[in-house]
Amino acid sequence: MQILKLDAGDTVEMKKPHPCGSRLFKILRAGSDVRLECTGCGHEIVLERLKMERSVKKLIKNPAESK
Ligand SMILES: [Zn+2]
Repeated sequence: MQILKLDAGDTVEMKKPHPCGSRLFKILRAGSDVRLECTGCGHEIVLERLKMERSVKKLIKNPAESK
């Protein structure tokens, strides 16, 4: 399984859309749990990292924060 390098500020495209219709979530905090904010409605969710990584379709790095 591919390990994703997740950082706060990155955006992820999920396989399943949020009920509001948006697939894009911004990472607020990445640890063993990941806190995400839906870019469509601003709703915050916390997912176990493993579960979250499985439902990520695409990771969009934040260009401002990549070194
Ligand atoms: Zn939403």
